[in-house]
Amino acid sequence: MEEHAVVLGAGFAGLLAAQVLARRYERVTLIDRDPHGPGLRRGVPQAPHAHTLLCRGLLELDRLVPGLSAELVADGAVTADPGADLLLLLGGHRLLPAPIGATTLQVSRTLLDDRLRERVLAAPGVELITGRDVVGLVPAPIGDRCAGVRTVRRDPGSPAEVVAADLVVDATGRGSRLDRWLAAEWRTTVPADRLPIEIRYASVASRLPNGLPGGARGALIAPTARCPYGLALLAVEGGRHLVTTVATGGHRPPRDEAGMQAVIRTVAPAELAEALLAGRPDGGVRGYRIPAVRRLRYDRADRLPGGVIAIGDAACALNPVYAQGLTVAAQQAAALADELDGDPETRPRRYLRAAAAVTEAPWAIAVGSDLALPEHRQRRTVGSRVTAALTGRIQRVATVDPAVARQFVRVMALLDPPTALSRPSFLARLVRVRGLPHGSAERGAGDPGPAGDPGLDQLRPLHLDAGGERSDQGTHRAL
Ligand SMILES: Cc1cc2nc3c(=O)[nH]c(=O)nc-3n(C[C@H](O)[C@H](O)[C@H](O)COP(=O)(O)OP(=O)(O)OC[C@H]3O[C@@H](n4cnc5c(N)ncnc54)[C@H](O)[C@@H]3O)c2cc1C
Repeated sequence: MEEHAVVLGAGFAGLLAAQVLARRYERVTLIDRDPHGPGLRRGVPQAPHAHTLLCRGLLELDRLVPGLSAELVADGAVTADPGADLLLLLGGHRLLPAPIGATTLQVSRTLLDDRLRERVLAAPGVELITGRDVVGLVPAPIGDRCAGVRTVRRDPGSPAEVVAADLVVDATGRGSRLDRWLAAEWRTTVPADRLPIEIRYASVASRLPNGLPGGARGALIAPTARCPYGLALLAVEGGRHLVTTVATGGHRPPRDEAGMQAVIRTVAPAELAEALLAGRPDGGVRGYRIPAVRRLRYDRADRLPGGVIAIGDAACALNPVYAQGLTVAAQQAAALADELDGDPETRPRRYLRAAAAVTEAPWAIAVGSDLALPEHRQRRTVGSRVTAALTGRIQRVATVDPAVARQFVRVMALLDPPTALSRPSFLARLVRVRGLPHGSAERGAGDPGPAGDPGLDQLRPLHLDAGGERSDQGTHRAL
């Protein structure tokens, strides 16, 4: 057994990392700035917003923590075949229902994290220290390695304390400062991919007297070139639905009930809108803003010391519209498990390469779709234009061909690689269909919006430019 692994941050990614490391390390210490009890906490401000674990993520979770998803379902979490049980309106096109043979897990983040934490802390040697901020890394006296972390208690003026470690795992989420800590101690340069996306969310939990039309378990309506607003809707435990409205490109989703209803009327098909508008809110509206997505390439870092790695949003923070973050964290935890055997000295490098490979498909899917929006017109490359055109064609054909819908949803669920969408047999299906509406109008070109809904006019006064708002230099913030 190796000795001591320290995991920074006890969110979803940190907990999964601890679960994996407990098999190899005598002691695993999780350090989090928040007190951990059941329910919402400050360190995970995204928790009130709609979260689903994609099919691939659920498969990984079942391998990493056997029995946990069954326990969550017994507690009321909802499983859904995204091809059959969700209403999908992507690029302004309503995909045909087409079962994909696998399920997602729809559960509140609080229940997911609470049950996972109980399971992880039950493992021998795993400990959680709360109320401490990690503020930097400690270099080993000899050799290029990290020997631990510096922490401060949250009460003001308390002195820094060092926690020694053989392996440090950064799982501090979207606001991670690992790249800066490495630069400060070792002058490490970490290449990063970054895209400013300026996306905002407003969410509320709702009780729907009649459920959703057709027994649907949720809906995803993505912003399009024509309409900057979208909607994610998920049935979760406790008979509630989480309703999250989304706005891109400097627009703001309204933060009050009437405003959220205006967005719903604008983007949702009539039957769905009716079901949602009949709902009773269960709590207030919560906001969230993401100015940028980023992927830190620790696998390509120059002068990277030994003994330190990153997982989850700390390594790759994606656009949440595509619901990939938890799945990426689970896939990276599985990659860490695969690298536990073998030389501990080369483990961090081997893991970082595997963890970067995990991000390839989700990053390509998310950034490819983001670049199709008009606010990123200047950033498009020839490759991204081709991808956007292909994606648009797939979404249009998926309104009439269930096999195309099925394959597309399997890729979005991270079950199949994006290359499945460029196989000759698949491309042949795309060209076979003729006479579909083109739907290529850019936002603001006088198009009435994806649902052809006059409600869009009601939202025009809410279309504020980012320039008129409070500036936020951080990577994320709960509004
Ligand atoms: C609106 C919204 C909706 C989303 N929907 C989905 C979805 O449907 N599906 C999906 O897969 N993903 C979704 N995501 C993304 C998902 O929330 C993240 O990918 C996920 O939370 C990443 O987990 P993590 O453990 O890496 O980070 P986090 O969950 O953010 O946890 C980080 C932890 O680190 C702690 N911490 C931070 N800094 C320090 C420090 N210096 N010292 C000590 N502790 C620290 C925090 O207290 C926290 O416990 C959504 C995100 C948003 C914003």
